[in-house]
Amino acid sequence: MTELTGAAAAANQPQGAISGSDRTASGRRRHIVLTSHPRRSGQKGSPIHWGHSDPVKRGPIVATVADPSHRNAIGTHSGSYAVYRALAVASGVLHPEHRPDLTHTAPAVALGPHPSWGEGEKIVSLDPFGALVGEVFQPWLAQGVDIRPTIAITRAHIQMPELMAAVRQGRLREDGEIVKPGGDLVVTKAAIEPVWYLPGVAQRLQVREDDLRYALFEQTGGMFPELVTRPDLKVFLPPIGGITVYLVGNLAAMTDPDLPLAVRVHDECNGSDVFGSDICTCRPYLVHGLEECIQTAQQGGAGIIVYFRKEGRALGEVTKFLVYNARKRQEGGDRADAYFARTECVAGVQDVRFQELMPDVLHWLGITRIDRFVSMSDMKYNAIVRSGIEIVHRIPIPEDLIPADAQVEIEAKKAAGYYTDRGPLSPDGLAQVKGRALAE
Ligand SMILES: [Zn+2]
Repeated sequence: MTELTGAAAAANQPQGAISGSDRTASGRRRHIVLTSHPRRSGQKGSPIHWGHSDPVKRGPIVATVADPSHRNAIGTHSGSYAVYRALAVASGVLHPEHRPDLTHTAPAVALGPHPSWGEGEKIVSLDPFGALVGEVFQPWLAQGVDIRPTIAITRAHIQMPELMAAVRQGRLREDGEIVKPGGDLVVTKAAIEPVWYLPGVAQRLQVREDDLRYALFEQTGGMFPELVTRPDLKVFLPPIGGITVYLVGNLAAMTDPDLPLAVRVHDECNGSDVFGSDICTCRPYLVHGLEECIQTAQQGGAGIIVYFRKEGRALGEVTKFLVYNARKRQEGGDRADAYFARTECVAGVQDVRFQELMPDVLHWLGITRIDRFVSMSDMKYNAIVRSGIEIVHRIPIPEDLIPADAQVEIEAKKAAGYYTDRGPLSPDGLAQVKGRALAE
């Protein structure tokens, strides 16, 4: 992809200026530096040695748009929120060269480093040093390079009605430390933005790096030309949702094989997680995962919820709602034996979450064994085990937590290979599991 449009094409200046007027209405320079080709001077951002355990040798990820000559990555910070940043700049409420003041923003709790941080391509979809940039990249910061955290770690109390009910019903106990009087849960939480090492992501998906780069370029409408023009840039900050990790209990238990660890890996489902929709088991299973985490933490261990922004199996919520309509309007009504077929009709594929990349966050936390894995997904289980983490027990959702209309989903998933201690239904049995009609 070398074609340029407008003035740059006319001037044949790959990194030159595109200008109508040289100044915006607010007086700022309107000078655009394209990074789709290496600078003629040969000046490039500092090299990244991905997978190196020493952060100084690994080098910082520089995705600032303030100084293109410092960049050594494709894309930019804040995922899809970069577009809102652009609106703020266009509206004149944010100076394009604003630099964050990171005073007092360092992690509230130290996580890592762990041996996995330096084990080659064990972590390829996040920057293990992303929370520590202010500490470990001082030599670059001192030279004025704009390096931004891609991970932030803080502490919080969370209040969920189901957890408070579990305390009242005696399933959870207030210990004053993990569960406060009244049912407040004390957590450490980490927000993580994706940072992809493209050769490692390609290897994980067993595709050629060239093919991955081309598909990313094309399917984002050509948003990131460097994907195809700059094979020297190996790191990409994709404009997608990130991960939030909730940690409960003794954090040392995450890496101590003598202490128990419970983990739920949860993919976003706004309709259920936030609004309580009864068509699926997402929120009930999420809350059950939290209960398992708390009980494990109260035995001296730790519990972890990993929450991925992968709405609707990463197909998005518009696709999801279209599928709901198709399921409920199809001949014979909503039923378990046609559950996955309806998604495939609309989206062309059943699932694009690509769990192959998911275990990276567990390796970032230094986990090598999970005692209680609160998920029935065979895809998540296989991805974690194949990445070298042992799983001792798998915890299905208790039957009494499954909403009536969600029987279609859960039976379809069990028939497709999800973990169950009772076995999946027969094809005939599957066809009998019906959901509510659209008008009801
Ligand atoms: Zn759901």
